[in-house]
Amino acid sequence: MTSGIEQPAPVYRELDASRVKITLKEKDDRPEVHPEGDSRKICTDHMVVADWTAERGWADPEIVPYGAFTLMPTASVLHYSTVCYEGMKLYRGFDGKLRLYRPNENAARMVTSAERISLPAPQPAELKALIKKLCGIDGPKWLPGDRKGEYLYIRPCMIGTDSSMGFDVPKEARLFVVISCWATVAKVGPSGLRLVTSKAEEIRAWPGGTGNFKVGPNYGPTLRNLGEAKARGFDMTLWLFGPDSQVTEAGSSNFFVIWRTASGKLELITSPVGDGLILPGITRQSVLTLVRERLCDGGVATDGLEPLEVSERSFSISDLSTAHDEGRLVAALAVGTAYFVTPVGEIDWNGKQIRFNSVENKHFLTIKSWLSDIMYGNVESDWAEIIDE
Ligand SMILES: *Cc1c(COP(=O)(O)O)cnc(C)c1O
Repeated sequence: MTSGIEQPAPVYRELDASRVKITLKEKDDRPEVHPEGDSRKICTDHMVVADWTAERGWADPEIVPYGAFTLMPTASVLHYSTVCYEGMKLYRGFDGKLRLYRPNENAARMVTSAERISLPAPQPAELKALIKKLCGIDGPKWLPGDRKGEYLYIRPCMIGTDSSMGFDVPKEARLFVVISCWATVAKVGPSGLRLVTSKAEEIRAWPGGTGNFKVGPNYGPTLRNLGEAKARGFDMTLWLFGPDSQVTEAGSSNFFVIWRTASGKLELITSPVGDGLILPGITRQSVLTLVRERLCDGGVATDGLEPLEVSERSFSISDLSTAHDEGRLVAALAVGTAYFVTPVGEIDWNGKQIRFNSVENKHFLTIKSWLSDIMYGNVESDWAEIIDE
């Protein structure tokens, strides 16, 4: 006999940052300033957690003390790499204020990444509001007002937590946001980063793959390559693609070259987004926008610098090698949130050294200072959002 009462269908709820439940740590038992050493293992006191199910949507998000959480051994993420993430920084400005840099872009990219691996898309505005809330809570202690010009690293992340072993779209997921005290990224040598080209049989990304999304499965398989590069004294891999060895990205940063073209123009070149080979970086986009506004012919330039032609176009490692031999290489940069704008000093291509004099390059230094002026509040910009604390 069936009961005559019909169960109402569960209501599907969207992520709602205004419903966040905050549980602060009871005892403040951790040092304010991260110790020397491997500070990347240290996160701030709190984290955002929000759970989702296909049936009910998002539970009320929470901010809770930082700590481990449990997953079933069959959780989707542990088998099928249903994970995506973002990388952002919380900057302590020279005016004493805390800022995020272009957080709308990170939130929007999180949505495209999540969708690519069948995770639920969090509403970008809600995700941003949760990140800001967490920064407002932990920022004052972990990045106090006297640490001007420093930052913390923010890692929003989503994982498929569904514990049914079957190979299927996860029906349960978790969003979390942690802040790590990752103060220095790498010790860069005096002439800049040393890169080594990827081997022909190792490809980071391919058309139709996932290289243009920030999804976990892109990264694990590249670690062996990174380990080998480091063991040989290099900082990163320069990822090549295709029969003509197109230059794509440096490690997990976007890659720019400044060179003089065969026709004598000074050009800033980076490989194009859109074919799935590179991650559409926010720093990359910022560099392109600022250089187009300020350093192109007809732009509002600036400091007596020679104008740059800006190109998003494929180029190959042999193009670089030829330019090197003809004395046309000017500078190379690895750019991204983690590495910011870092000069590249050298590329090893099967034993051939392609060298750049990037460190003192005026264009590089100018681009870098434009960005840091925005991040650290030396100039007003709607790319920077102030955190209430
Ligand atoms: C995150 C990332 C970048 C840089 O992107 P930003 O938005 O500038 O931080 C570049 N390449 C890869 C592969 C990345 O994962």
